Amino acid sequence: MTGIPEYVLDLDQRDPLAAKRREFVLPKNTIYLDGNSLGALPRNVVARLDAVASRQWGEDLIQSWNKHDWIDLPKRVGEKIAPIIGAASEQVICCDSISVNLFKLLCSGLELNPARSVVLSQKDNFPTDLYIAEGVQNLLGESRCQLEVCAADQLESRLDEDIAVLLLTQVNFRTGELHDIQALTNAAHEKGIVVIWDLAHSAGVLPLELDAWGVDFAVGCGYKYLNGGPGAPAFVYVARKHQEKLRQPLSGWMGHKQPFEFSPQYQPAQGVERFLSSTPSILALAALDAALDVYQDVDIKQVRAKSIAMAELFISLVSDKLSAGSLTLVASMPSAQRGSQLSYSHPHAYAMAQALIELGVIVDFRRPDILRFGFTPLYTSFVEVWRAAQILVEAVESRLFLDSRFQQQHKVT
Ligand SMILES: *Cc1c(COP(=O)(O)O)cnc(C)c1O
Repeated sequence: MTGIPEYVLDLDQRDPLAAKRREFVLPKNTIYLDGNSLGALPRNVVARLDAVASRQWGEDLIQSWNKHDWIDLPKRVGEKIAPIIGAASEQVICCDSISVNLFKLLCSGLELNPARSVVLSQKDNFPTDLYIAEGVQNLLGESRCQLEVCAADQLESRLDEDIAVLLLTQVNFRTGELHDIQALTNAAHEKGIVVIWDLAHSAGVLPLELDAWGVDFAVGCGYKYLNGGPGAPAFVYVARKHQEKLRQPLSGWMGHKQPFEFSPQYQPAQGVERFLSSTPSILALAALDAALDVYQDVDIKQVRAKSIAMAELFISLVSDKLSAGSLTLVASMPSAQRGSQLSYSHPHAYAMAQALIELGVIVDFRRPDILRFGFTPLYTSFVEVWRAAQILVEAVESRLFLDSRFQQQHKVT
Protein backbone atom coordinates (compact mmCIF):
# COMPACT_ATOMS: atom_id res chain seq x y z
CA MET A 1 0.00 0.00 0.00
CA THR A 2 1.36 3.40 -0.87
CA GLY A 3 0.92 6.66 0.95
CA ILE A 4 0.94 5.29 4.46
CA PRO A 5 2.68 7.89 6.61
CA GLU A 6 5.85 6.87 8.36
CA TYR A 7 4.44 7.59 11.83
CA VAL A 8 1.62 5.08 11.27
CA LEU A 9 4.03 2.34 10.18
CA ASP A 10 6.05 3.22 13.25
CA LEU A 11 3.08 2.70 15.55
CA ASP A 12 2.78 -0.87 14.27
CA GLN A 13 6.55 -1.39 14.57
CA ARG A 14 6.47 -0.41 18.22
CA ASP A 15 3.22 -2.24 19.06
CA PRO A 16 3.90 -4.86 21.76
CA LEU A 17 0.71 -6.71 20.72
CA ALA A 18 1.47 -6.82 16.99
CA ALA A 19 2.33 -10.53 16.95
CA LYS A 20 -1.08 -11.47 18.42
CA ARG A 21 -2.72 -10.90 15.06
CA ARG A 22 -1.15 -14.10 13.74
CA GLU A 23 -3.22 -16.07 16.25
CA PHE A 24 -6.43 -15.11 14.41
CA VAL A 25 -8.06 -16.13 11.15
CA LEU A 26 -8.95 -12.91 9.34
CA PRO A 27 -10.33 -12.51 5.83
CA LYS A 28 -8.09 -10.83 3.25
CA ASN A 29 -8.82 -7.30 2.06
CA THR A 30 -11.14 -6.67 4.99
CA ILE A 31 -10.67 -4.30 7.88
CA TYR A 32 -12.70 -5.69 10.73
CA LEU A 33 -13.94 -2.99 13.10
CA ASP A 34 -16.78 -4.97 14.64
CA GLY A 35 -14.99 -7.20 17.12
CA ASN A 36 -17.04 -5.44 19.81
CA SER A 37 -20.09 -7.29 18.43
CA LEU A 38 -18.52 -10.56 17.31
CA GLY A 39 -14.87 -11.24 18.02
CA ALA A 40 -12.72 -12.75 15.25
CA LEU A 41 -11.90 -16.45 15.06
CA PRO A 42 -8.76 -17.52 16.95
CA ARG A 43 -6.85 -20.16 14.95
CA ASN A 44 -6.69 -22.69 17.77
CA VAL A 45 -10.49 -22.71 18.06
CA VAL A 46 -10.78 -24.52 14.73
CA ALA A 47 -8.49 -27.36 15.84
CA ARG A 48 -10.18 -27.55 19.23
CA LEU A 49 -13.68 -27.79 17.80
CA ASP A 50 -12.53 -30.50 15.45
CA ALA A 51 -10.96 -32.46 18.30
CA VAL A 52 -13.98 -32.13 20.57
CA ALA A 53 -16.40 -33.12 17.82
CA SER A 54 -14.42 -35.86 16.09
CA ARG A 55 -12.45 -37.46 18.90
CA GLN A 56 -14.35 -36.67 22.08
CA TRP A 57 -17.95 -36.71 20.92
CA GLY A 58 -17.32 -39.00 17.92
CA GLU A 59 -15.26 -41.66 19.66
CA ASP A 60 -15.61 -41.36 23.40
CA LEU A 61 -19.26 -40.38 23.34
CA ILE A 62 -20.85 -40.10 26.77
CA GLN A 63 -17.67 -41.15 28.57
CA SER A 64 -16.30 -37.74 27.61
CA TRP A 65 -18.19 -36.14 30.50
CA ASN A 66 -15.63 -37.86 32.75
CA LYS A 67 -12.78 -38.75 30.43
CA HIS A 68 -12.43 -35.22 29.01
CA ASP A 69 -13.90 -33.56 32.07
CA TRP A 70 -16.71 -31.91 30.12
CA ILE A 71 -18.63 -31.69 33.37
CA ASP A 72 -16.26 -29.12 34.89
CA LEU A 73 -15.79 -27.06 31.74
CA PRO A 74 -18.06 -24.18 32.97
CA LYS A 75 -15.82 -23.90 36.02
CA ARG A 76 -12.54 -24.19 34.11
CA VAL A 77 -13.57 -21.54 31.60
CA GLY A 78 -14.73 -19.32 34.49
CA GLU A 79 -11.28 -19.68 36.07
CA LYS A 80 -9.66 -18.56 32.79
CA ILE A 81 -11.87 -15.48 32.66
CA ALA A 82 -11.27 -14.56 36.32
CA PRO A 83 -7.82 -12.93 35.91
CA ILE A 84 -9.10 -10.94 32.90
CA ILE A 85 -11.68 -9.24 35.14
CA GLY A 86 -9.64 -8.96 38.33
CA ALA A 87 -11.30 -11.79 40.20
CA ALA A 88 -9.69 -14.33 42.50
CA SER A 89 -10.50 -18.00 42.01
CA GLU A 90 -13.95 -19.56 42.59
CA GLN A 91 -16.07 -16.53 41.80
CA VAL A 92 -16.62 -16.82 38.05
CA ILE A 93 -18.54 -19.44 36.12
CA CYS A 94 -19.32 -19.65 32.43
CA CYS A 95 -22.86 -20.52 31.36
CA ASP A 96 -26.02 -19.40 29.59
CA SER A 97 -26.35 -15.90 28.13
CA ILE A 98 -26.04 -12.45 29.67
CA SER A 99 -29.83 -12.08 29.74
CA VAL A 100 -30.40 -15.37 31.55
CA ASN A 101 -27.59 -14.67 33.99
CA LEU A 102 -28.96 -11.19 34.67
CA PHE A 103 -32.25 -12.78 35.65
CA LYS A 104 -30.45 -14.99 38.17
CA LEU A 105 -28.40 -12.09 39.55
CA LEU A 106 -31.24 -9.62 39.74
CA CYS A 107 -33.37 -12.02 41.78
CA SER A 108 -30.32 -12.75 43.97
CA GLY A 109 -29.60 -9.04 44.44
CA LEU A 110 -33.20 -8.42 45.52
CA GLU A 111 -32.92 -11.34 47.93
CA LEU A 112 -29.89 -9.68 49.55
CA ASN A 113 -31.90 -6.51 50.14
CA PRO A 114 -35.36 -7.84 51.10
CA ALA A 115 -36.61 -4.62 52.74
CA ARG A 116 -36.18 -2.67 49.48
CA SER A 117 -37.73 -3.03 46.05
CA VAL A 118 -36.31 -0.49 43.60
CA VAL A 119 -33.93 -1.58 40.85
CA LEU A 120 -32.18 1.51 39.50
CA SER A 121 -30.81 1.47 35.98
CA GLN A 122 -29.97 3.84 33.17
CA LYS A 123 -32.53 4.94 30.61
CA ASP A 124 -30.24 4.13 27.70
CA ASN A 125 -28.83 0.93 29.16
CA PHE A 126 -28.60 -1.99 26.72
CA PRO A 127 -32.27 -2.96 26.25
CA THR A 128 -31.97 -6.60 27.31
CA ASP A 129 -30.86 -5.47 30.78
CA LEU A 130 -34.00 -3.35 31.10
CA TYR A 131 -36.23 -6.05 29.59
CA ILE A 132 -35.01 -8.62 32.12
CA ALA A 133 -35.65 -6.19 34.99
CA GLU A 134 -39.14 -5.60 33.59
CA GLY A 135 -39.66 -9.36 33.46
CA VAL A 136 -38.61 -9.75 37.10
CA GLN A 137 -40.93 -6.89 38.04
CA ASN A 138 -43.85 -8.61 36.30
CA LEU A 139 -43.03 -11.90 37.94
CA LEU A 140 -42.51 -10.70 41.52
CA GLY A 141 -44.84 -7.70 41.48
CA GLU A 142 -43.91 -4.09 42.18
CA SER A 143 -43.82 -4.60 45.92
CA ARG A 144 -40.72 -6.76 45.40
CA CYS A 145 -39.21 -5.30 42.24
CA GLN A 146 -39.75 -1.90 40.77
CA LEU A 147 -37.59 -0.78 37.87
CA GLU A 148 -36.63 2.89 37.77
CA VAL A 149 -34.41 4.46 35.15
CA CYS A 150 -32.65 7.79 34.91
CA ALA A 151 -30.04 9.50 32.77
CA ALA A 152 -26.39 8.57 33.30
CA ASP A 153 -25.52 11.90 34.91
CA GLN A 154 -28.41 11.56 37.40
CA LEU A 155 -27.39 8.16 38.71
CA GLU A 156 -25.14 9.21 41.54
CA SER A 157 -27.59 11.73 42.99
CA ARG A 158 -30.45 9.22 42.72
CA LEU A 159 -28.74 6.65 44.98
CA ASP A 160 -30.69 6.42 48.23
CA GLU A 161 -32.04 3.99 50.80
CA ASP A 162 -35.09 2.81 48.82
CA ILE A 163 -32.90 1.25 46.14
CA ALA A 164 -32.16 -2.45 46.43
CA VAL A 165 -30.04 -2.99 43.32
CA LEU A 166 -28.07 -0.76 40.96
CA LEU A 167 -27.98 -2.44 37.54
CA LEU A 168 -25.58 -0.84 35.07
CA THR A 169 -23.49 -1.52 31.99
CA GLN A 170 -19.97 -0.14 32.13
CA VAL A 171 -19.71 0.85 28.46
CA ASN A 172 -22.68 2.50 26.76
CA PHE A 173 -23.23 0.42 23.64
CA ARG A 174 -24.36 3.40 21.57
CA THR A 175 -21.93 6.11 22.58
CA GLY A 176 -19.04 4.19 24.11
CA GLU A 177 -19.22 6.32 27.29
CA LEU A 178 -17.67 4.67 30.31
CA HIS A 179 -18.84 4.47 33.91
CA ASP A 180 -16.39 4.53 36.78
CA ILE A 181 -17.22 1.15 38.32
CA GLN A 182 -15.25 1.79 41.48
CA ALA A 183 -16.80 5.20 42.21
CA LEU A 184 -20.39 4.11 41.53
CA THR A 185 -19.96 0.85 43.44
CA ASN A 186 -18.63 2.76 46.46
CA ALA A 187 -21.42 5.34 46.28
CA ALA A 188 -24.03 2.55 46.05
CA HIS A 189 -22.53 0.60 48.93
CA GLU A 190 -22.62 3.68 51.14
CA LYS A 191 -26.41 3.55 50.78
CA GLY A 192 -26.60 -0.22 51.24
CA ILE A 193 -27.30 -0.86 47.55
CA VAL A 194 -26.17 -4.06 45.81
CA VAL A 195 -24.49 -3.55 42.41
CA ILE A 196 -24.66 -5.64 39.25
CA TRP A 197 -22.32 -4.67 36.42
CA ASP A 198 -22.81 -5.76 32.82
CA LEU A 199 -19.31 -6.02 31.32
CA ALA A 200 -20.36 -7.00 27.78
CA HIS A 201 -18.19 -4.35 26.12
CA SER A 202 -15.52 -4.37 28.83
CA ALA A 203 -14.16 -7.85 29.46
CA GLY A 204 -10.98 -8.43 27.49
CA VAL A 205 -10.39 -4.81 26.54
CA LEU A 206 -10.61 -2.70 29.71
CA PRO A 207 -8.56 -3.26 32.86
CA LEU A 208 -11.02 -4.52 35.49
CA GLU A 209 -10.50 -5.10 39.21
CA LEU A 210 -13.82 -6.53 40.38
CA ASP A 211 -12.44 -7.88 43.67
CA ALA A 212 -10.53 -4.72 44.54
CA TRP A 213 -13.50 -2.55 43.63
CA GLY A 214 -15.79 -4.58 45.88
CA VAL A 215 -18.29 -5.38 43.11
CA ASP A 216 -21.12 -7.68 44.23
CA PHE A 217 -22.13 -9.23 40.91
CA ALA A 218 -21.21 -9.00 37.25
CA VAL A 219 -22.01 -10.60 33.92
CA GLY A 220 -20.10 -10.49 30.67
CA CYS A 221 -20.06 -11.69 27.12
CA GLY A 222 -18.13 -14.61 25.61
CA TYR A 223 -18.52 -13.65 21.96
CA LYS A 224 -17.38 -10.01 21.91
CA TYR A 225 -13.81 -9.19 22.98
CA LEU A 226 -13.25 -12.72 24.33
CA ASN A 227 -13.69 -14.15 20.80
CA GLY A 228 -15.63 -17.26 21.84
CA GLY A 229 -17.73 -17.40 18.67
CA PRO A 230 -21.32 -16.52 17.77
CA GLY A 231 -23.60 -17.08 20.76
CA ALA A 232 -20.73 -18.19 23.01
CA PRO A 233 -21.79 -18.63 26.62
CA ALA A 234 -21.61 -15.67 28.96
CA PHE A 235 -20.00 -15.49 32.40
CA VAL A 236 -21.23 -14.68 35.89
CA TYR A 237 -19.15 -13.19 38.69
CA VAL A 238 -20.47 -13.55 42.23
CA ALA A 239 -18.33 -12.08 45.03
CA ARG A 240 -17.34 -14.85 47.37
CA LYS A 241 -18.91 -13.15 50.39
CA HIS A 242 -22.41 -13.47 48.87
CA GLN A 243 -22.27 -16.95 47.41
CA GLU A 244 -23.46 -19.08 50.30
CA LYS A 245 -26.36 -16.73 51.13
CA LEU A 246 -28.03 -17.03 47.75
CA ARG A 247 -30.41 -19.40 46.07
CA GLN A 248 -30.67 -18.23 42.50
CA PRO A 249 -34.12 -18.79 40.94
CA LEU A 250 -33.15 -20.99 37.96
CA SER A 251 -32.34 -23.84 40.32
CA GLY A 252 -31.69 -26.50 37.72
CA TRP A 253 -29.92 -29.76 38.31
CA MET A 254 -26.45 -28.62 37.25
CA GLY A 255 -26.46 -26.13 40.12
CA HIS A 256 -27.38 -28.89 42.54
CA LYS A 257 -24.90 -30.07 45.14
CA GLN A 258 -25.01 -33.60 43.74
CA PRO A 259 -26.78 -33.70 40.39
CA PHE A 260 -26.26 -37.44 40.01
CA GLU A 261 -27.93 -38.24 43.30
CA PHE A 262 -31.17 -37.37 41.47
CA SER A 263 -32.65 -36.26 44.76
CA PRO A 264 -36.18 -34.81 44.57
CA GLN A 265 -35.11 -31.82 46.72
CA TYR A 266 -32.96 -29.01 45.42
CA GLN A 267 -29.82 -28.32 47.38
CA PRO A 268 -27.51 -25.66 45.95
CA ALA A 269 -23.93 -26.54 45.10
CA GLN A 270 -21.12 -24.92 47.06
CA GLY A 271 -20.05 -21.52 45.86
CA VAL A 272 -20.49 -20.01 42.44
CA GLU A 273 -21.42 -23.39 40.90
CA ARG A 274 -24.94 -22.89 42.20
CA PHE A 275 -25.35 -20.32 39.44
CA LEU A 276 -25.39 -23.12 36.89
CA SER A 277 -28.77 -24.35 35.71
CA SER A 278 -28.46 -26.79 32.84
CA THR A 279 -26.23 -29.13 30.91
CA PRO A 280 -23.39 -27.02 29.49
CA SER A 281 -23.17 -26.50 25.74
CA ILE A 282 -19.85 -28.28 25.32
CA LEU A 283 -19.04 -27.31 21.74
CA ALA A 284 -19.64 -23.64 22.50
CA LEU A 285 -17.74 -23.78 25.77
CA ALA A 286 -14.82 -25.61 24.17
CA ALA A 287 -14.56 -22.87 21.52
CA LEU A 288 -14.49 -20.17 24.20
CA ASP A 289 -12.02 -22.17 26.28
CA ALA A 290 -9.62 -22.35 23.33
CA ALA A 291 -10.22 -18.69 22.43
CA LEU A 292 -9.22 -17.64 25.95
CA ASP A 293 -5.75 -19.13 25.47
CA VAL A 294 -5.04 -16.10 23.30
CA TYR A 295 -5.26 -14.00 26.48
CA GLN A 296 -2.85 -16.08 28.51
CA ASP A 297 0.18 -13.84 27.91
CA VAL A 298 -1.73 -10.61 27.33
CA ASP A 299 -1.42 -7.58 29.58
CA ILE A 300 -4.83 -5.86 29.51
CA LYS A 301 -3.13 -2.53 30.26
CA GLN A 302 -1.32 -2.82 26.92
CA VAL A 303 -4.61 -3.69 25.24
CA ARG A 304 -6.18 -0.56 26.72
CA ALA A 305 -3.23 1.65 25.74
CA LYS A 306 -3.39 0.43 22.14
CA SER A 307 -7.16 0.82 22.00
CA ILE A 308 -6.84 4.46 23.10
CA ALA A 309 -4.03 5.11 20.63
CA MET A 310 -6.09 3.63 17.78
CA ALA A 311 -9.16 5.69 18.68
CA GLU A 312 -7.10 8.88 18.86
CA LEU A 313 -5.44 8.18 15.52
CA PHE A 314 -8.84 7.59 13.91
CA ILE A 315 -10.40 10.72 15.43
CA SER A 316 -7.53 12.93 14.32
CA LEU A 317 -7.49 11.54 10.76
CA VAL A 318 -11.24 11.93 10.36
CA SER A 319 -11.43 15.41 11.86
CA ASP A 320 -8.46 16.60 9.75
CA LYS A 321 -10.12 15.51 6.53
CA LEU A 322 -13.82 16.05 7.05
CA SER A 323 -15.42 19.41 7.57
CA ALA A 324 -17.34 19.71 10.82
CA GLY A 325 -20.95 18.73 10.42
CA SER A 326 -20.63 16.01 7.80
CA LEU A 327 -20.02 13.36 10.44
CA THR A 328 -20.35 14.00 14.18
CA LEU A 329 -18.33 12.25 16.84
CA VAL A 330 -20.76 11.20 19.54
CA ALA A 331 -19.44 11.65 23.07
CA SER A 332 -16.32 13.60 22.28
CA MET A 333 -14.77 13.16 25.70
CA PRO A 334 -11.18 12.23 26.59
CA SER A 335 -10.40 8.70 25.38
CA ALA A 336 -9.91 7.48 28.95
CA GLN A 337 -13.67 7.94 29.44
CA ARG A 338 -14.63 5.85 26.43
CA GLY A 339 -14.67 2.10 25.81
CA SER A 340 -12.95 0.53 22.79
CA GLN A 341 -15.30 2.01 20.19
CA LEU A 342 -16.03 5.26 18.43
CA SER A 343 -19.53 6.31 17.47
CA TYR A 344 -20.28 8.86 14.81
CA SER A 345 -23.73 10.13 13.96
CA HIS A 346 -24.77 10.75 10.38
CA PRO A 347 -28.23 11.24 8.85
CA HIS A 348 -27.62 8.27 6.53
CA ALA A 349 -25.77 6.14 9.07
CA TYR A 350 -27.36 2.84 8.02
CA ALA A 351 -26.57 3.29 4.33
CA MET A 352 -23.12 4.55 5.24
CA ALA A 353 -22.43 1.37 7.22
CA GLN A 354 -23.54 -0.72 4.24
CA ALA A 355 -21.33 1.29 1.87
CA LEU A 356 -18.32 0.90 4.19
CA ILE A 357 -18.91 -2.84 4.38
CA GLU A 358 -18.88 -3.01 0.58
CA LEU A 359 -15.62 -1.07 0.63
CA GLY A 360 -14.13 -3.67 2.98
CA VAL A 361 -14.48 -1.88 6.31
CA ILE A 362 -16.78 -3.89 8.56
CA VAL A 363 -18.66 -1.63 10.99
CA ASP A 364 -22.19 -1.60 12.34
CA PHE A 365 -25.17 0.65 12.77
CA ARG A 366 -27.26 1.38 15.83
CA ARG A 367 -30.54 3.24 15.71
CA PRO A 368 -31.31 5.98 15.17
CA ASP A 369 -28.24 7.39 13.42
CA ILE A 370 -25.09 5.83 14.83
CA LEU A 371 -22.17 4.33 12.99
CA ARG A 372 -19.97 2.27 15.30
CA PHE A 373 -16.25 1.58 14.86
CA GLY A 374 -14.96 -1.04 17.28
CA PHE A 375 -11.23 -1.37 17.97
CA THR A 376 -9.84 -4.76 18.88
CA PRO A 377 -6.18 -4.31 19.79
CA LEU A 378 -5.34 -8.01 19.60
CA TYR A 379 -5.85 -8.22 15.85
CA THR A 380 -6.24 -4.73 14.39
CA SER A 381 -3.19 -2.77 13.21
CA PHE A 382 -2.62 0.97 13.13
CA VAL A 383 -2.24 0.76 9.35
CA GLU A 384 -5.76 -0.67 9.18
CA VAL A 385 -7.07 2.13 11.36
CA TRP A 386 -5.39 4.66 9.06
CA ARG A 387 -6.79 2.93 5.98
CA ALA A 388 -10.30 2.70 7.48
CA ALA A 389 -10.23 6.43 8.15
CA GLN A 390 -9.24 7.13 4.51
CA ILE A 391 -12.06 4.91 3.25
CA LEU A 392 -14.57 6.56 5.57
CA VAL A 393 -13.57 10.02 4.37
CA GLU A 394 -13.89 8.92 0.74
CA ALA A 395 -17.28 7.32 1.43
CA VAL A 396 -18.60 10.50 3.06
CA GLU A 397 -17.27 12.81 0.35
CA SER A 398 -18.31 10.67 -2.62
CA ARG A 399 -21.85 10.35 -1.24
CA LEU A 400 -21.68 6.71 -2.33
CA PHE A 401 -24.09 5.85 0.50
CA LEU A 402 -26.96 7.48 -1.41
CA ASP A 403 -26.97 4.56 -3.86
CA SER A 404 -30.21 2.60 -3.57
CA ARG A 405 -28.40 -0.70 -2.96
CA PHE A 406 -27.36 0.52 0.48
CA GLN A 407 -30.85 1.43 1.65
CA GLN A 408 -32.25 -2.06 2.14
CA GLN A 409 -32.52 -2.84 5.86
CA HIS A 410 -31.32 -6.23 7.06
CA LYS A 411 -32.63 -7.99 10.18
CA VAL A 412 -29.30 -7.59 11.94
CA THR A 413 -27.78 -4.13 11.66
C1 LIG B 1 -24.08 -7.88 23.73
C2 LIG B 1 -24.73 -7.46 24.99
C3 LIG B 1 -25.59 -8.32 25.66
C4 LIG B 1 -25.93 -9.66 25.10
O1 LIG B 1 -26.88 -10.35 25.84
P1 LIG B 1 -27.17 -11.90 25.54
O2 LIG B 1 -28.29 -12.23 26.46
O3 LIG B 1 -25.92 -12.65 25.86
O4 LIG B 1 -27.56 -12.01 24.11
C5 LIG B 1 -26.09 -7.91 26.89
N1 LIG B 1 -25.77 -6.70 27.41
C6 LIG B 1 -24.97 -5.84 26.75
C7 LIG B 1 -24.63 -4.52 27.37
C8 LIG B 1 -24.44 -6.19 25.52
O5 LIG B 1 -23.66 -5.33 24.86
